[in-house]
Amino acid sequence: MRLSQVLITTLREDPADAEIPSHKLLVRGGYIVKIASGIYTYGPLMWRTLKKVTAIVREELDRESAQEVMMPMMHPKELWVSSGRWERYVADGIMFTLKDQKGTEYCLGPTHEEVITAYADQAINSYKQLPVNLYQIQDKFRDEIRPRYGLMRGREFIMMDAYSFDVDEAGLDVSYAAMDRAYRRIFERCGLQFRSVQADAGAIGGSGSEEFMVLAEAGEDTILYCEESGYAANVEKADSVPAAAPADPGSAPLDRRETPDVRTVEQLEAFFGMPAAAMAKTVLYEVTWTDREGVAAVMMRGDLDINEVKLVNALDCLAVTLASDETIQKVTGAEVGFAGPIGLPEDVVLLADKTLEGRQNLLTGCNETGYHCLNVQMGRDCRMPEFRDLRVAKAGEMSPDGAGPLRQARGIEVGHIFKLGTKYSTNMDATFMAESGKPTPFVMGCYGIGVSRTAQAAVEQNHDERGICWPAPIAPFECAVVCVDVKKPEQVELAEKLYAELRDLGIDACLDDRPLRPGPKFKDLELLGFPFSITVGRGAVDGMVEYGVRRTGEKTDVAAADAVTAVRAALGR
Ligand code: ATP
Ligand code: MG
Repeated sequence: MRLSQVLITTLREDPADAEIPSHKLLVRGGYIVKIASGIYTYGPLMWRTLKKVTAIVREELDRESAQEVMMPMMHPKELWVSSGRWERYVADGIMFTLKDQKGTEYCLGPTHEEVITAYADQAINSYKQLPVNLYQIQDKFRDEIRPRYGLMRGREFIMMDAYSFDVDEAGLDVSYAAMDRAYRRIFERCGLQFRSVQADAGAIGGSGSEEFMVLAEAGEDTILYCEESGYAANVEKADSVPAAAPADPGSAPLDRRETPDVRTVEQLEAFFGMPAAAMAKTVLYEVTWTDREGVAAVMMRGDLDINEVKLVNALDCLAVTLASDETIQKVTGAEVGFAGPIGLPEDVVLLADKTLEGRQNLLTGCNETGYHCLNVQMGRDCRMPEFRDLRVAKAGEMSPDGAGPLRQARGIEVGHIFKLGTKYSTNMDATFMAESGKPTPFVMGCYGIGVSRTAQAAVEQNHDERGICWPAPIAPFECAVVCVDVKKPEQVELAEKLYAELRDLGIDACLDDRPLRPGPKFKDLELLGFPFSITVGRGAVDGMVEYGVRRTGEKTDVAAADAVTAVRAALGR
């Protein structure tokens, strides 16, 4: 392509709403233009990149025998009611819903488990047709509370979503492993540095869920990993070996103490001269279940923090929020700062973190303003709580496998693979005829890649102060042949010749024949970030050009033919 014919509008100034480098650079390069909050038009150059990402995705999924389909974006409400997800998605506010002229309700697909399950139910009759893995690449719609960072968190964005159907769990394991392989190759080929991490699998949990994280400071996710063993998990899910609790000196009678105005863990440490690890703080949450609301009291060792994702899973609820002061006062009968497990109303769910199991002699609040209790023994002085893993794992603590300390990194979630099991097929009564002759629910997996997010994540990892440094496999063009002065026939002639030669070699080259002064032209090209360049300038009369590598900034004067050889070698062609 000739850049004089490509719509390129670069900006000097960073857009006001952009906070991270990749967002700034994509807007400044004219790659994306915002139409509304979280909604973008991809310009011609961005679309070239996105087509390259999707081509890689297709190749690698096809290699694993997945089949491409295309499902509707508009879904009837009753499908989502049949899976039990309509209310939750509407309550979360994440789903765009609409009505047709007859008043029938629909949503714009935020994800496609419902549609694919309904399709599989009709299209797959017998175990003989399984396994099947179906995928599509399509726009998804989510009314994110905080759309931001450009394509990273959009409200309309491109996703590859795949769904596997197997006769049993063993089959699912095979399908899941195939997707894991495909994902690794996809992100490697996109030139990304990534890590796969254990992910929260929600309340159904258990069977398996991994996220693929592009490592970058701007990432919204926190990852904990162990260099020694390779353990890696999203902090939402991560486990660790916490510091040991102080020794427990055997059972002692409950001891109620006056603690005027002593409310926080720090104040208690000072007042009693006891370490936080000897205390149990009691935190109250307001809980929303599908069918009711209530309050939960969560006991946590004083030096540790509550992981709300784990808490939601333990309660098998939709959401938790810290209880308001009013609720705390109502439930405990005391001012804020004195909550404890003793004498809580029966309808308050009582949970405690696993680190408290078997402990005696805890220091806790007593649900009485101005008092705390020493030697609290769960089961004796209060109800026996249910013990669950509710703790936030932290960098510096030991990896759960004991191999070494956990380290922390930030990540951008670009992909997610998930063993669903029979959750949707059971709810929606989607079955196939098993070998036994019995109708049997499909065993399913689901898999997603944020295609537009991946493209921007590549920029977040590959840029410098002058602009983007695209990884070659997803660059809009692999190489630019730059004609410095389009009024000089010898420059035009040589540039045209090199451009044609590169294209004949199968290299995705463009010809920068824009009638710009050299300064702005080079600035533009650095911002746009094509990986290689051959610049044809004054040396053209002697057949000399400049070979450039965007990432390293390296520039070498070479004979025209050698420049082509250098580009070929760099691209491995
Ligand atoms: P997040 O936690 O970032 O909101 P998610 O876990 O809800 O994402 P999934 O339902 O797993 O997302 O979707 C599959 C993939 O789609 C994600 O791994 C991510 O790469 C991408 N994705 C999700 N939401 C968005 C969005 N709002 N904008 C761009 N890409 C997104
Ligand atoms: Mg996810």
